[in-house]
Amino acid sequence: MKIQDIEISNPDKLIFANKGITKLEMVRYYEKIADKMLPYLENRPLTLQRFPDGIEDGGFFQKNAADYFPDFIETVSIETENGSNLQVVCNNKKTLIYLANQGTVTFHIWLATQDNLNKPDKVVFDLDPPENSFEKVKTAAGKIRDLLINEGKEPRLMTSGKKGLHVWYPVDRYKNFDDRREEVKELAEKMKEKHPNILTTATRKEKRNHKIFVDYLRNAYGQTTVCPYSLRPINSAGVATPLEWNELSKIKKGDHYTQENIFRRLGQKY
Ligand code: ATP
Ligand code: MN
Repeated sequence: MKIQDIEISNPDKLIFANKGITKLEMVRYYEKIADKMLPYLENRPLTLQRFPDGIEDGGFFQKNAADYFPDFIETVSIETENGSNLQVVCNNKKTLIYLANQGTVTFHIWLATQDNLNKPDKVVFDLDPPENSFEKVKTAAGKIRDLLINEGKEPRLMTSGKKGLHVWYPVDRYKNFDDRREEVKELAEKMKEKHPNILTTATRKEKRNHKIFVDYLRNAYGQTTVCPYSLRPINSAGVATPLEWNELSKIKKGDHYTQENIFRRLGQKY
């Protein structure tokens, strides 16, 4: 069986065993979501989170392109402390299908594109709910939105597909990661000062007091956040889903949208 010219190996292998979702079905998911997802992947170095034997068997994060990846898989050279590495870039459907066939359940993206890896084009706040309190993380997201709008930003919202929410906004490419993070840290402090009962910037967990940690620490060179429309390796097969702000009130959990209901949301038949 070929999809986009890629021979699908072990199509019947269960990736989400509890839901009966096979590798072929996962590949078809990515084929179908590709038009929505590719704009977010475009030109960004990727970390692949692969589960070749299904999510119950454990997986691994893969930063570097494997040497057996075929020539059509684009890569970008990344400078690290220990020399340079090649990371995968996914700019087309065929690559997406190839990587899904490799058992990639989740795609993690850089906050910079390959034309200038030192300068982010977005800022992300990763909001994780304290135990069993998704409502708290929703309240926090709303407050952060209001403050960002006040600061002249254009905040966007996404479910992570797992437990929490991400709030992000696009930025121009004048600043490198370190300078941008300094500015973002100040913003986070402002948020905390305005909403001291809801938000915290304490990096130590025991100091957070069940408040929401405004996590700006992902805004750094080499760090990733989950790519919109990625599946997550949890039993619900949650999907990281961009939302309009007026949808926030009806969202009940970080995996509100899943492989099963995402296309209904997008107005397509599955
Ligand atoms: P949740 O809503 O459950 O917190 P999340 O995607 O926000 O889901 P986090 O654990 O909060 O997950 O991590 C934030 C982001 O950091 C992730 O989206 C992911 O892209 C990135 N990340 C976390 N761990 C790793 C890792 N080991 N390698 C690469 N990226 C990682
Ligand atoms: Mn998170």
